[in-house]
Amino acid sequence: MYEEYNRHDIAVYAGFLENDAELLECTSGGIATALARHIIQRGGYVAGVAYSGDFYKAEYKVINQEDQLDEFKGSKYIEVEKGDVFHDVKTLLDAGERVLFFGLPCIVGAVKSFLKREYDNLITCELVCHGPTSPKVHTEYVKHLENRFGSRVTDFSVRKKREVWTPPYLYAKFENGREFERPFYSTEYGYAFSVMGRGSCYDCKFKGNNRMGDIMIGDFWGAKPEDIFWNDKGVSVIFVHTDKGKELLHAVEGIRLFETTFERAVSNNPMVIQSKERKPEREKFKRLLDQKGLIYAAYHSKTLKGRIKATAARFVPGPLKPFLKTVYLYIKKAVGLGKA
Ligand SMILES: Cc1cc2nc3c(=O)[nH]c(=O)nc-3n(C[C@H](O)[C@H](O)[C@H](O)COP(=O)(O)OP(=O)(O)OC[C@H]3O[C@@H](n4cnc5c(N)ncnc54)[C@H](O)[C@@H]3O)c2cc1C
Ligand code: SF4
Repeated sequence: MYEEYNRHDIAVYAGFLENDAELLECTSGGIATALARHIIQRGGYVAGVAYSGDFYKAEYKVINQEDQLDEFKGSKYIEVEKGDVFHDVKTLLDAGERVLFFGLPCIVGAVKSFLKREYDNLITCELVCHGPTSPKVHTEYVKHLENRFGSRVTDFSVRKKREVWTPPYLYAKFENGREFERPFYSTEYGYAFSVMGRGSCYDCKFKGNNRMGDIMIGDFWGAKPEDIFWNDKGVSVIFVHTDKGKELLHAVEGIRLFETTFERAVSNNPMVIQSKERKPEREKFKRLLDQKGLIYAAYHSKTLKGRIKATAARFVPGPLKPFLKTVYLYIKKAVGLGKA
């Protein structure tokens, strides 16, 4: 069923870091961090994405020190400022340095077009991509939290693990020592990420056989406790597209790898082969975001069902949710709004 989409895949793996403490700091299985550490320990450079010092935006950086790796950990779910990163990467490559470049598939495509030729000393790692949301969402949310807590943000994540990989939590730490933690998809930020991607992401050209990197990594969605590669602290999926990518992956220390099939890896991760669907709320949300800001837009562009779900996700303890869902469906039927 999926054979037509994997013309360039040499091998597909599930994998994760062996160090549990570090695995909990990473988004999925921490394979990005392991690849980056391997390159830096051998004198190379890594181009990746970090939050700015004030946490108001995300930006590309090129690093060559192990103690800088922490900044790259964690997905940044917004459009990123590229600055001079393409120039900087080219300068390093022309000087004979080894560079590992992380990016969303279209950015990996863009850096390759910019470079105009193949470099043996460049390795590219793309992320499975659902598409980022607007940087305005991020900046507004961070400022909203700073107002609420009366203090500057000093740490921030949209993929914080609470001892286990899922569900992801949005986490912020403040200068005054206080902390904020909430299931990501029950926040206004999570809602924005799920309803408002960039226009081009709904017809993305970098799926299936048009993947761009030597390696592609993502979350191994659909991994189950009975799988040999299961780890409740996070599992990465790794698609190897070139011999260069395979050589690097197998040289990396401190990770566990399990070969799997393309079909298994993609069956719960459709973003590898297809674009996301445009949600009906997108246009209203986008308009309200521009006019009234994130918090207003997130509330007023939701359907009634969406508002109830968001409130339940925020306030109702997990075991009570099935019961309340039954009550909701019963009331809906009673007032003639649909089938129970
Ligand atoms: C916008 C976005 C959408 C995504 N959608 C999906 C999806 O639908 N399905 C799926 O399986 N995976 C998706 N991912 C990938 C997933 O969230 C993880 O980034 C990936 O599994 C790597 O996890 P890790 O534990 O190896 O990374 P970590 O060890 O936590 O390191 C994170 C790495 O990601 C890089 N990075 C972080 N944010 C960005 C960014 N915005 N642009 C470029 N590089 C970045 C950092 O430089 C670092 O190298 C998405 C990522 C992003 C940024
Ligand atoms: S979905 Fe496609 S176009 Fe959108 S950011 Fe990802 S790779 Fe780029």
